[in-house]
Amino acid sequence: MTLFEKIIARQIPADIVHEDEHCIAFRDISPQAPVHLLVVPKKPIPRIGEAMIEDQELLGHLMLAVGEIAKNESLAESGFRVVMNHGSHGGETVPHLHIHILGGRPLEWPPG
Ligand code: 5GP
Repeated sequence: MTLFEKIIARQIPADIVHEDEHCIAFRDISPQAPVHLLVVPKKPIPRIGEAMIEDQELLGHLMLAVGEIAKNESLAESGFRVVMNHGSHGGETVPHLHIHILGGRPLEWPPG
């Protein structure tokens, strides 16, 4: 069971801001911006590069959930960033696909 599956199963507490049939979103334990959320599919796809064609609808669902959640967090007007980390150079630390939503301050580009 991945760490995020344990959060989905309520075995580990998290500050959950959204849940539906296919995904959950909660606040990152180590926020890198005033608002830092993780949007996680209930299906434990390890990382984006391992998603399959049968995940196409789920991936679309996640993207629409990102927009809805960002709006609920009042980020739509000021702006926000969406990040997915794949593998060691990407900075991935949890092998369960997740989308970071970062906002609440201006973010620099390029990232470090
Ligand atoms: P990654 O580095 O894999 O892209 O992102 C994993 C994220 O999960 C990190 O930003 C990290 O702070 C967050 N994280 C790790 N463990 C926990 C936890 O137990 N609870 C919550 N809410 N976030 C976690």
